Amino acid sequence: MTNFPIDKIRLDFPILQRKVNGKPLVYLDNAATSQTPKQVIDCIVEYYSLYNANIHRGVHTLSQEATDAYEAAREKIRVHFNAKHREEIIFTSGTTEGINLVAHGFSKRLKKGDEVIVSALEHHSNIVPWQMMCEETGAKLRVLPMLPNGELDMNAYADLVNANTKLVFVNHISNALGTINPIKQIIEKAKKVGAAVLIDGAQAAPHIKADVQDLDVDFYVVSAHKMCGPTGVGVLFGKKTWLEKLHPYQGGGEMIDQVSFEQTTYAGLPHKFEAGTPNICGGIAFGAAIDYMNTIGFEAIAQYEHDLLVKATQALFEIDGLKIYGTAKEKTSVISFNIEGIHPYDIGTIVDKLGIAVRTGHHCAKPIMDYYKIPGTVRASFAFYNTFEEVEALVQAVKKAKEMLS
Ligand SMILES: *Cc1c(COP(=O)(O)O)cnc(C)c1O
Repeated sequence: MTNFPIDKIRLDFPILQRKVNGKPLVYLDNAATSQTPKQVIDCIVEYYSLYNANIHRGVHTLSQEATDAYEAAREKIRVHFNAKHREEIIFTSGTTEGINLVAHGFSKRLKKGDEVIVSALEHHSNIVPWQMMCEETGAKLRVLPMLPNGELDMNAYADLVNANTKLVFVNHISNALGTINPIKQIIEKAKKVGAAVLIDGAQAAPHIKADVQDLDVDFYVVSAHKMCGPTGVGVLFGKKTWLEKLHPYQGGGEMIDQVSFEQTTYAGLPHKFEAGTPNICGGIAFGAAIDYMNTIGFEAIAQYEHDLLVKATQALFEIDGLKIYGTAKEKTSVISFNIEGIHPYDIGTIVDKLGIAVRTGHHCAKPIMDYYKIPGTVRASFAFYNTFEEVEALVQAVKKAKEMLS
């Protein structure tokens, strides 16, 4: 793509100017967390410099300003994901908490004989809470298997879904392999038997603008820090009809209507699920991050990242003994690879010396690594602020690591 304003974009990210081990930083660990543009950093500085106050309960000006900004951020996020109602947007501490909130709610509703389906491509945070839920309720956890190219086995899915299926959990995009899953199809099939679907959108949100009404999804969870926002904040979208039915996750201030020692009644949505003082600044900055990404535009981002992915894939493929895991037809800018006979950790260490940040290990997706019978991979994940020169730097660094280690 020739007219993508990459030079201008890079100036928005102060961290991209720094050096690591004497070399310019090449940050390719975006699937773990993204970097923060100055528009978002400024928003955080402004909050603490001008209107830091607790929300929803103060009559004073600062508290009202903070409440207005926090609720305006909720509205931005609602519009971004095209939720119908503002009460369907629950602020959380991130994807993990969003999933736990839903699992906790369902652990009061499921019984022995019920079945839940989880995909083989999940992040641990979309496996462990459901295991805990199943242990508690006696529901059965069934696994939707994957294929060697990193796609889900949709024929197996058709066989797994049945009248006992109550819930299906799948990520929109796999953080370990980059596979974009056919979630629309998955949701449609689940609906036919009346099962609810939770989509883990943590890895998709920085690349694809999901439309929760069009998807007709019941729950969709994201983290701000994967999409240019701060850590420790995220959002759970839940259909109002579901959120009204689910039991609150935590008790505390903000989530109640009336409290006495005899009885407590809960607040309405979204506050029922937002106990305690939230990450106010984080929520506001999440809104700023969404504004920032929309200014660049998700279509332009997807196209540019796709070009980076194609170039990196082609160049890495040419390295002898290098194997890429996850070659799905639909994938985002994540490349997981190994070089025959070399431990991924050693590659990661050498490329770091050259200023390049990649991730090594199991990427919180041990079942995928077990499937391929490997301890882990080297993972390079690209964002819209990466360049073709950085792709080239990665390829050269991997070649150098291979020379040194073999
Ligand atoms: C990062 C990630 C998570 C966990 O997000 P947290 O912000 O750590 O809660 C879950 N699922 C996927 C697919 C991810 O990429």
